[in-house]
Amino acid sequence: MDRVNATMPPGRYRQEISALVQPMPVVARPLHQCRGLVLAADAVAGVSLPPFDNSAMDGYAVRASDVAGADPDSPVWLPVADDIPAGRVDLRPLAPGTAHRIMTGAPMPVGADAVVQVEHTDGGTETVRIDRAVTERTHVRFIGEDVTQGALILQAGTVLNPPQIGLAAAVGIAELPVRRPPRVLILSTGSELVAPGEPLVPGQIYESNSAFLAAAVAEIGGEPVVLRFVPDDVDTFRAAIAAHAADADLLVTSGGVSAGAYEVVKDALAGHGVEFLRVAMQPGGPQGRGVFEGLPVVTLPGNPVSAALSFELFIRPALLGAMGHAATDRPRVRAKATTAMTSPPNRVQYRRGRHDAGRVEVVPVGGPGSHLLASFAQSNCLIEIPAGVAEVGVGDEVDLILLS
Ligand code: AMP
Ligand code: MG
Repeated sequence: MDRVNATMPPGRYRQEISALVQPMPVVARPLHQCRGLVLAADAVAGVSLPPFDNSAMDGYAVRASDVAGADPDSPVWLPVADDIPAGRVDLRPLAPGTAHRIMTGAPMPVGADAVVQVEHTDGGTETVRIDRAVTERTHVRFIGEDVTQGALILQAGTVLNPPQIGLAAAVGIAELPVRRPPRVLILSTGSELVAPGEPLVPGQIYESNSAFLAAAVAEIGGEPVVLRFVPDDVDTFRAAIAAHAADADLLVTSGGVSAGAYEVVKDALAGHGVEFLRVAMQPGGPQGRGVFEGLPVVTLPGNPVSAALSFELFIRPALLGAMGHAATDRPRVRAKATTAMTSPPNRVQYRRGRHDAGRVEVVPVGGPGSHLLASFAQSNCLIEIPAGVAEVGVGDEVDLILLS
């Protein structure tokens, strides 16, 4: 079970992690909880849009033939027979030779075929002076012009962003079937860790992986549940999981998976459904995954950049896939390196870089070290140097994974 020495190409490991995270169940959610989620079934319009012919302007509903030839030098005068605010439902028909004052969004009376906007009138309420002729259909929004009743408005698989959510509401839909967000338990390990905000003594460091991981899970629409980090103690680690495992979809741990002593995650999970291995990448070689007491687990190395890249390369696509996203990959481009770089043979190296849209070059940021958080925070792409490539020269083309 515990094949510590096995190495696996990152592409294959990525597939394994995606297979580990099951598709999320479909639930009905009110629209205000749907943003960023994936629609699980086609949505059909229960009403047309607009649902009735209505005025596109504040003005006067008329018969175009009654105001033919109107201009400022020879205006047409019409009696104002009715007043139609938006929301009025008890409409009377328009008699020939009259006008109804009408507001934007108010229903067109039967018999009217155009609207004269108020700016081309004297705004009268008893009689109105019309200074401009209109043709039939002018300033009228017709029933079904936008959407016809029964039409497919959103296809299953659509990502629900504000425009899609607004459309669903406009056709009267209150809730949509979506794949619910995965609940991701996040548990950092390390006896050296201290919570940000608390005092630090030499030998201790601030715990940063769970802050990164929680933000990264939330960014793609998942629900992070950050557990209080634990020291390198197997019993404490197991107890922390046990309290929360029941309603989680995935556990992501950090730290404690390398080859040293006090590898708490390895000690607690090896032989209990979780396999540890080396993935042929740098940073982020030591990894583990499996199912511990029914809960899928991915164990990340503790170095902050290793943990972050592992999330980016393996967990992010797995969660997106489980949520029903068809596109789980970041965009890739090729660019010319502005600096020479070396890379370990037989491993894929991920360097951090800056790449400006439309430019042909990428600027590596910082070195390859897995502890270099500041340069990671300044970068907007990963430079992927494939296994088998030991050197990249200035001007050589490299593959970029665009992070933002
Ligand atoms: P480990 O994988 O536990 O051997 O940790 C590798 C390195 O990452 C060590 O220098 C740890 O102190 C550091 N580290 C581990 N976990 C965290 C964390 N949650 N936040 C910040 N640094 C960490
Ligand atoms: Mg550790």
